[in-house]
Amino acid sequence: MDYTAILERIRDDVQPLLGKGRVADYIPQLGKVRPDHFGMALVTLDGRCHAVGDATVPFSIQSISKLFACTLAFQLLGEDLWQRVGREPSGNAFNSLVQLEYEQGLPRNPFINAGALVVTDVLCSRFVQAESALVQFLRRLCGKDGIDYDGEVARSELAHADRNLAMAHFMKSFGRIEMPVQAVIDAYCRQCAITMSCEELARAALFLANGGVVPWSGERVLAPSPTKRLSALMLTCGTYDEAGDFVYRVGLPAKSGVGGGIVAVLPRRWAVCVWSPGLDHSGNSLAGVQALEWLTTLTGQSIF
Ligand code: GLN
Repeated sequence: MDYTAILERIRDDVQPLLGKGRVADYIPQLGKVRPDHFGMALVTLDGRCHAVGDATVPFSIQSISKLFACTLAFQLLGEDLWQRVGREPSGNAFNSLVQLEYEQGLPRNPFINAGALVVTDVLCSRFVQAESALVQFLRRLCGKDGIDYDGEVARSELAHADRNLAMAHFMKSFGRIEMPVQAVIDAYCRQCAITMSCEELARAALFLANGGVVPWSGERVLAPSPTKRLSALMLTCGTYDEAGDFVYRVGLPAKSGVGGGIVAVLPRRWAVCVWSPGLDHSGNSLAGVQALEWLTTLTGQSIF
């Protein structure tokens, strides 16, 4: 399969969509990113990387961090994690509060903000600095030492974190958050502000396509069964309230972020990351979803 040729075709075909959609300006620092970026990288299990466009340009991973934070929490707690957070799609916006009240503060899944805050709470209770633990973990997963969070983006989100603060306080009132709310929000904003490129994110997600083992280092991140379970959650919950439409179009487990990145995996074959900052109404990258739809169509490869 000539993945490079396919990615080049996708890069050309996606041009009319670039600059369409809305950059996430509710975090002011993210609003400064040029909307017409496009990058895509696909890494196969043998470590070979096929890339086009801005695939090496670092961007704010935002909610994609929820995937890796959840992996760490799953490592720590195993199945007990599901006492703290659910496993069902929410059908609501990623930052919605409504469900929390009638479901006694138990978030639907770890990939919406409420669930991710609980996951970060788990990490805060285990590590002195949760975001540093996550950064170290990501460095190991993709084999790059330079990965870190962007202090400006973290401060920008912290200064506009009223909704996430409200959510965390609300869950704490139900006893769902153990650590001080401000500590959880600080760590959460820093984890969302981690910057990585498409190439780095595709490499970091490759353990999911490889039964839970990082191909180049041999590190076992998760056993095969939890790896399957985490991928299943990405399929049903990884792209917010658009998860149904996304899987209809793309047919892969994926996790998106409002920085415009989307990571997806094809078990036993490859991991891919696409980045374009213009978002659709649900907060997924407009050109990114289209690019992934073309990828699975042109390659004939998906989980179905
Ligand atoms: N940091 C963002 C927030 O909490 C992440 C949201 C996202 O990427 N969907 O609002």
